[in-house]
Amino acid sequence: GKQPLTLLGLGAMGTALARTWLAAGHPLTVWNRSPARADALAAEGASAAGTAAEAVAANRLVVLCLLDDASVGQTLAGADLAGKDLINLTTSTPGQARALAAWAQERGARFLDGGVMAVPPMIGAAGSGGYIFYSGSRALFDAHRETLVVPAGTTYVGEDPGFAALHDVALLSAMTGMFAGVAHAFALIRKENIEPRALAPLLADWLTAMSPAVHTTAAQLDSGDYSAGVVSNLAMQVAGSATLLRTAGEQGVSAELLTPYLALMELRLAEAERGNEEGTTGVIDLLVR
Ligand code: NDP
Repeated sequence: GKQPLTLLGLGAMGTALARTWLAAGHPLTVWNRSPARADALAAEGASAAGTAAEAVAANRLVVLCLLDDASVGQTLAGADLAGKDLINLTTSTPGQARALAAWAQERGARFLDGGVMAVPPMIGAAGSGGYIFYSGSRALFDAHRETLVVPAGTTYVGEDPGFAALHDVALLSAMTGMFAGVAHAFALIRKENIEPRALAPLLADWLTAMSPAVHTTAAQLDSGDYSAGVVSNLAMQVAGSATLLRTAGEQGVSAELLTPYLALMELRLAEAERGNEEGTTGVIDLLVR
């Protein structure tokens, strides 16, 4: 038979996870702070536990998908974790994941942290591109691989329990910068006779065309040679940033989403010996304190 497991937390993500395990035939025990959501899953074949501690007691494999790190601590406070395989899919910081791992191990559990790179409709949808980063106990990951691949693809990133969260947040942080740029772009056309839906495909294609630049950056960081493969040098980009700022002014748009990054480029150019040879990779040196 399929591996039985417990899932704590039936929000949008927890419910999506639960449905994939039920559909795949895994016996599933669920608990949610508000019981109505567990009752709804019980109608679909799950066993609803009365308390979090009872849900944890029901199975060796226990998955959490709660709002945040604080809710995980509150939920597990009264549970006996001895001999458990604990997997936390709640978004957390690397430090929170490491602390939870140590706390769980002290109580006799094996621990794996996860970072979900998917929105709920991608869960259980083959080919959606969604997946989950895992880090922590490799033995736990290997033991439950068949269960873990049911909701989404798996990417194991190391024994350090903080690494799943670190990879997750690195990707989300890059996405945040991208969305900030997209917001600025739509603001620029707001007062003009240009349809947002006409700009959208141009934006999407341009961002896709530019994204391979991350590989050049990585190669430069690895080699330490920040001018290798540069086609848009920093001095040119700083000169060009004046055009970005002036255009924002002409269109009556605040440049506040752009200025922090442009200021760092300018600072790097002032400090760099080869500003007309290197690109923007040196900005990273200014960020790391
Ligand atoms: P929801 O807001 O839909 O659900 C939050 C869940 O946490 C509910 O089950 C809620 O219980 C529970 N909860 C909140 N506070 C507590 C508490 N103090 N004690 C016990 N349970 C608590 O969030 P999602 O399901 O969307 O997100 C869950 C996790 O998944 C988050 O860490 C999120 O970052 C992550 N995630 C979500 C994505 C998304 O697009 N939705 C994408 C990637 C990751 P109750 O029903 O009682 O309120």
